[in-house]
Amino acid sequence: MSTGLLTPPIRQTQVFVPELVYFEPDALNYPKGQRILEWAKQQGLPIQMTTSHNRITNLPGESDLEKYKIAKRTLVVGIRKTLKFDTSKPSAEYAIPIATGCMAHCHYCYLQTTLGAKPYIRVYVNTDDILKAAKQYIEERAPEITRFEAACTSDPVGLEHISGSLKELIEFMAREPLGRLRFVTKFHHVEPLLGLKHNKHTRFRFSVNADYVIKNFEPATSSFYERITAAGKVAQAGYPLGFIIAPIIWHEGWENGYQELLEKLKEALPEEATSDLTFELIQHRFTKTAKTVIQQRYPKTKLELDETKRKYKWGRWGQGKYVYPDDQANALREFITEQIFEKFPQSKIDYFT
Ligand code: SF4
Repeated sequence: MSTGLLTPPIRQTQVFVPELVYFEPDALNYPKGQRILEWAKQQGLPIQMTTSHNRITNLPGESDLEKYKIAKRTLVVGIRKTLKFDTSKPSAEYAIPIATGCMAHCHYCYLQTTLGAKPYIRVYVNTDDILKAAKQYIEERAPEITRFEAACTSDPVGLEHISGSLKELIEFMAREPLGRLRFVTKFHHVEPLLGLKHNKHTRFRFSVNADYVIKNFEPATSSFYERITAAGKVAQAGYPLGFIIAPIIWHEGWENGYQELLEKLKEALPEEATSDLTFELIQHRFTKTAKTVIQQRYPKTKLELDETKRKYKWGRWGQGKYVYPDDQANALREFITEQIFEKFPQSKIDYFT
C-alpha cells in the first residue's frame, strides 16, 4: 500500500553530455574511440587532440573553482595502459578500470582527493585488453570466484551512453563461470543494460541515503525517486540487486531519515527484488587532505568535518581517517541494521565499515 513517501521529481535528470572532448591519438585506432568521436561530432561538441591526458593544463576558467567545474564536464578518451588491477576490499577482489572521474558533485566524494588536480572524466577504449587481464585474474584464483568492482574510480552507469563499457563487462562476466561483476551508481540511466544476457553474474547496486544527505551533498546526481524506479527495472530484468547506504551521516533527525529511507525502499521495490538483496553500509569518513579540498571546492558545504568530533583511525597507507566515535558508529549500525531486517528479512548485510 502506498504511504505517499515517494514523489517523482519535477525535472528528469538528463544524461551527461560533456562540454569539451579530448582524444588521445591512439584511442582513434579502436572502434570504440571512433564511435565516441562520431557521437561527439553529432552532439556538436568541441573536439581536441592531446598527446596525453597529463598534458591537459589549459582548461578554460578564470579561477581554480571554475576550472574544476569545467574539468568535471570534460571528457578524455584514451587507452588504459596499466592493466594491473587494484584490490577493492571489502566489496570485491579487484577494481576493474573502465573509467576515471565523475560529472556529479557529491561533496564527500573520495575522488576529490584521489584524482587531485585531474578531475576530468576519462573513458578507456581498449576494453578487450582490460577483459583479457580480468580473465587472467579469474584463472589465477580458480576454483574460487573472483569479483570485480567497476565503480571504484567513477560512476560507470552515468557514462554508459558514451562508452558502452558496462555492456561489454556484463556480457563477458555472463560467460565466465567464476567471474562476477558489481558496480554502484547514483544515476538512473539503466535502459541500455536491461535487455543484456547477464546470467545473474552482475550485481547492480544503487547508492541511496537519507533525504538530508541527498539534498545537501549530492548535486548533479539522479533523484532518489529516479534511482529507486531504476532499481525496480533492474530487478525485473533479473539482475541481483543491492543498495549501498553511504556515506551514513550523523545529522539532526538521522533516525527518522534512515527509517524513512528504508520505508521508501520497501514501498517502491517489486517483490522479485527482495529475494536476493544485499546492503553495504559505510559511515562517513574523511582525511585531512580531503577536508582541505572539500572546503576549497564546496566552501558553503554543510558537511561536518570537525576532527574533534571524530575518532582517528590509522590507515594502511600512512594517512589515517576520521570516522565517528564508537558510540555513534554503533548507534548508526544498530539502528540501520534493525530497520533493514525489519523491512527486508531475507536480505543480507555484506558489511558495515
Ligand atoms: Fe563521486 Fe559517486 Fe558522487 Fe560521482 S556519483 S561524485 S563518483 S560519489
